[in-house]
Amino acid sequence: MNRALAWINNIEIEIVQGETILQAARRLGEEIPTLCYSPGLAPEGGCRLCLVEVGRSPRLAGACHTPIQHGMEITTHTPRLESLRREILTLYLEVDEQREFPTDTRDSEFGRLLEHYGLRPKSNPCAQADERSNRTHTYLRFDPDLCISCRRCLNACEQIQGQFVYGIASRGPSTHLIIGPGERFDESACVACGACVDQCPTLALTDRDRMNGKPAERVTQSVCGYCGVGCRVEVESAGNRVLRIRGVPGAAVNRGHLCVKGRYAHNYHHSPDRLTTPLKRVGSDWIPISWDEAIHFAAERLQQVRDQHGPNALGGLASSRSTNEAAYLLQKLFRTQIGTNNVDCCARVCHSSTALALQIVTGTGAASVSFADIESARCIVLAGSNATEAHPVVGARLKQAVLKGAKLIVIDPRRVELAEYADHHLQVRPGGNVPLFNAMAKVMVDEGLIDSAYLQERVESVSEFREFLRAVSLETAAEQSGVEPAKIVAAARLIGNLRPALFVTGLGLSELTQGTASVMTMANIAMLTGSIGRPGAGMMPLRGQNNVQGAADMGTMPTQVTGYQSLRDPQVRNRLTQVWGSAPPEEAGITIPEMLDAAARGDLHALWVQGEDIAHSDPNEAHVIKALTNLDFLMVQEMFFSETAKYAHLILPAAGALEQEGTFTNGERRIQRVRPAVEPPGESRADWTVIRDVGIALGAEWHYDEPAAVMKEIARVAPHLFGGVDYASMGPDGVQWPCPEPGHTGSTRVHEDGFVRGKGRLVTIAYAASPEQCSTEFPFVLVTGRVLEHYNVGSMTRRTAQCELVGEDFLEIHPDDASAIGIAAGDFVELESRRDRAKARVRLSQRMTPGTLFLAFHFPESHTNRLTSSYTDPQSKCPEYKITAVRLQPATAVPLE
Ligand code: SF4
Repeated sequence: MNRALAWINNIEIEIVQGETILQAARRLGEEIPTLCYSPGLAPEGGCRLCLVEVGRSPRLAGACHTPIQHGMEITTHTPRLESLRREILTLYLEVDEQREFPTDTRDSEFGRLLEHYGLRPKSNPCAQADERSNRTHTYLRFDPDLCISCRRCLNACEQIQGQFVYGIASRGPSTHLIIGPGERFDESACVACGACVDQCPTLALTDRDRMNGKPAERVTQSVCGYCGVGCRVEVESAGNRVLRIRGVPGAAVNRGHLCVKGRYAHNYHHSPDRLTTPLKRVGSDWIPISWDEAIHFAAERLQQVRDQHGPNALGGLASSRSTNEAAYLLQKLFRTQIGTNNVDCCARVCHSSTALALQIVTGTGAASVSFADIESARCIVLAGSNATEAHPVVGARLKQAVLKGAKLIVIDPRRVELAEYADHHLQVRPGGNVPLFNAMAKVMVDEGLIDSAYLQERVESVSEFREFLRAVSLETAAEQSGVEPAKIVAAARLIGNLRPALFVTGLGLSELTQGTASVMTMANIAMLTGSIGRPGAGMMPLRGQNNVQGAADMGTMPTQVTGYQSLRDPQVRNRLTQVWGSAPPEEAGITIPEMLDAAARGDLHALWVQGEDIAHSDPNEAHVIKALTNLDFLMVQEMFFSETAKYAHLILPAAGALEQEGTFTNGERRIQRVRPAVEPPGESRADWTVIRDVGIALGAEWHYDEPAAVMKEIARVAPHLFGGVDYASMGPDGVQWPCPEPGHTGSTRVHEDGFVRGKGRLVTIAYAASPEQCSTEFPFVLVTGRVLEHYNVGSMTRRTAQCELVGEDFLEIHPDDASAIGIAAGDFVELESRRDRAKARVRLSQRMTPGTLFLAFHFPESHTNRLTSSYTDPQSKCPEYKITAVRLQPATAVPLE
């Protein structure tokens, strides 16, 4: 077959299908100037700077949007083209040939072009004209005098984030960029992702922190310390301060994109509230002590409790914000130096149901896919996840996939943002997932909308499942789930007809007493439609904290050791004995809720809490506090004096995400390097070093001198998942486990050649109502969750300018409910559950159905978790944050005691 060839500046080039002239030229290293073009955005073809000559009697063609074709002869720089480009540039500004070229202009793409073409602007196009600039957003600034209406910001906003903030007004010379309907960022749909700033070639749009002026001394590549998306970041710093953060262009996870938290909310690192020295409680006070004293005191107290009450009277909670290496060492310390499996992490209170469910039915308790599968998905089911707020970069990718034609079904009690883009929004009653998924499965099976070959080859219990579905009634399911039969049928048909599908899930499925059941019944649908192990399809749980996936992977679980290995498997025990010198007890330990129950009863005497604020984040606050106050020894590793730290006997100051070395694992099983951009303040230290030193003080012969040494050991302990994971061979985008041997490049998908457990399993589970039921006394259902601007207990985001965006937790309530109890937007209400009371300001919202409320938990003064119950999923022990029966009454703004 003849090769398709073209010539650019007389250089022969083989044509790549679908490439434009510009892309081909750049592949050859031939530079063509552009202004409105940006890789990753659709070609705009507006600025005309990229015009090239094509053919021997040359015609002009826009290189950014003209496909390169066989036989084309292209010239990119001729006197005619260069003069044209010069002329085009002069249209954007008045020039003054006598003027010196302003040096700061070189900071911008536009300025560098002006300089290249010898154009000296009369006024400096990159000088910041304060008077006219639009500063209606905490983080953004727009200077209309510098804008050349190239539309890159507008295209980025639409094509990356999908917010449609910008528009172009007027025509001809009056053409100009407009921001929202009212020329105010803060009243527009802007979510401050900063994609527009990254695109602006003239510095008309800038980050306001850029104006602080300090030049960067260092640029460090690391990973965002907020959510489990795990965006790669470039951190600019100077003099031990973080100046700015950008997304790493081309990073596999985020392709340069970030959300408002990852990009702007970094100042907590430098907060005056940071803990800077170990603190020991003396009476009702805490006194600063040295690290030597702190390590000695910690080891002594842990040993005393173990000697007095036995190893199972101690427990350890690993931080999902800290590194894999720290989590690994903490579970090793408890298993080898204390002699208990009482270790857990915050995965327990978020996705433990998901992990357990997927482990049971597929053999792997993690995502079967990569985020990149979103772009090839034809049908996406988003269940129990407000992805655009809780996992914004993935949320934006989901939105883009739908804008480009993928079908979307949203299953959520709340009309979350993505429901606006959905083909079907099934507004399920909180806790109604199991009957809903069973009914959808019935429709698929009855109508033959299933992948029979896949089921026959790869799935077990098919006939039992068919039998089970015979008894499922659509009408009963509709009653239990709150979703009309016609909607259930329509959604099931859409998924069944477009199979395979991508199932993206969040805490709305897992934080229920039927959490594990919810995920398993959803996985039934995934298997019926042949979705798991296929490109653009499968199971994608969105993980909450930055390293919650890694903390569980590392073995901070009471039932399994590193790499989800059985505590009783003789081979595993053998390997652990070789590497650790001893094997852990065979008997499983207890989970976080069980540890708190045990402490409240007086059976657990010592607790080591690494980077979790359980007195704020865990349900039934009064019970948690009772447990904490009952302990003989509470040791807390934290960046700030948290709610939990108030009850501690020893507080150890911890390093932040941008202050330490190690690895984080994101929600697509990707292990990525984390590097220090700045030093931790005072004497605060990276968690892994503290755990190592306490381990040594407890008698361990540990010789880890750097986190890479810990990773080498992790590879030996769990070779089936991490055998080939090693800092030295890890590329910039890290590696996705399983990566079983050196030289292995990692796994973008699992279950491709068959399920890890052998055959996938269909499960038959009936609906069981939550024990937390509404009544005439407590008529509303409260759902708790997160908002875009804040993260978890807010200890980091509350110490940044995020508070200018959202400064308090608010109660979302349907206007009909609000008027029925006589409250208006902005009023305060008191919420009371069967346990306690809380208070919040009201926000009227049609996102909730009447009778259902939403409240975030980022601010400790709201005491959201005073309301929530201690009910847990019986299998995973995940608490039920998504159903709390409450009543409301108008209140004053005075905070509760
Ligand atoms: Fe950080 Fe998550 Fe935002 Fe990415 S999406 S920047 S990981 S908070």
